[in-house]
Amino acid sequence: ATPTALLVGTGRGAQLGILIKGPEVLESTRRVDTVVLDKTGTVTTGRMTLRGVYPAGTGDAGSGAPGTDRTPATAGNPPPVPDERVAPVAAVASPAAVAPTEPVEPVEPVEPVDEKELLRLAGALEHASEHPVARAIAAGAAERAGALPAPERFENVPGLGVRGTVEGHEVLAGRERLLTAAGIPLPPSLTAARAAAEAEGHTAVVVAWDGTARGVLTVSDTVKETSAEAVRELRALGLTPVLLTGDHTAAAESVARAVGIDEVIAEVLPEEKVAVVRRLKAAGRTVAMVGDGVNDAAALATADLGLAMGTGTDAAIEAGDLTLVRGDLRVAADAIRLSRRTLATIR
Ligand code: ADP
Ligand code: MG
Repeated sequence: ATPTALLVGTGRGAQLGILIKGPEVLESTRRVDTVVLDKTGTVTTGRMTLRGVYPAGTGDAGSGAPGTDRTPATAGNPPPVPDERVAPVAAVASPAAVAPTEPVEPVEPVEPVDEKELLRLAGALEHASEHPVARAIAAGAAERAGALPAPERFENVPGLGVRGTVEGHEVLAGRERLLTAAGIPLPPSLTAARAAAEAEGHTAVVVAWDGTARGVLTVSDTVKETSAEAVRELRALGLTPVLLTGDHTAAAESVARAVGIDEVIAEVLPEEKVAVVRRLKAAGRTVAMVGDGVNDAAALATADLGLAMGTGTDAAIEAGDLTLVRGDLRVAADAIRLSRRTLATIR
């Protein structure tokens, strides 16, 4: 390859808003057939907002943000009425007439949860996290419930949520898996709230304290205006797009549908993203990965071609071969087009 032609390629890249680590990078884009796209911050803006607040035990949908005041009823069933809802659950869970001595696991909290308390305790904990979901919850909670207390203890659980102590309560907030791992079941009303939010492409954060599930908070992200067009352009270049995310499958599928991606790999823990890239490579695919997060860094480094969003974290930018300066996914297609053209010039 003529070094001059490659350098011309990198110069043109800079004009398009593509920073290229070294001219040799263009070579590796040649055979790329699969482009793995991180969801949050790459396909979506990553700027999330708090939408719905669903306290447990109140029997209603809580107070959603404008436009989200929909009752999260189970599909096919009428919305539950406060006092009637516990009855059928109790009928199933505590067959007193059949086995009176058997201990019954309470699924709904005894006391209805106060909405402000739910926001305050979850918000206090999330305030200590940098995650986009956490920022949305902390900001929304401060707005709706006032000043947030400082947690006595805080721990980040990557890909799952946060855990800590707030005002003496042992609080968990994150994916349902975080709660189930701690042996805390979700009551049916919260499962319904979670499922309804996720079916819409929103992210549901379940909150528990002192061993009991207390509510669901939903946050939503916005798909970037340019993402659907970017996916069309990538397909036109003969690439198969794959959406990769730690988020719930239903939320991921909703985003995938919105931008025209058929292949979705969801509920992937941060350390598993790199394994997904390895698996695709082992299956004979030549993989480009586009990402923005600390979580994506290892996968960006492992992919045949790593493209980092310039709007993302330093870790991702350092790990990538290319940086898309403006965070516009369409530029990923420009980058592949540019390298193919540059290499064609050389030949
Ligand atoms: P992504 O791959 O979409 O960038 P992550 O791997 O960082 O996301 O997180 C995966 C999922 O874990 C999030 O979609 C969210 O449901 C949950 N999660 C992660 N961190 C937090 C947090 N601080 N609070 C609540 N939920 C969280
Ligand atoms: Mg991301």
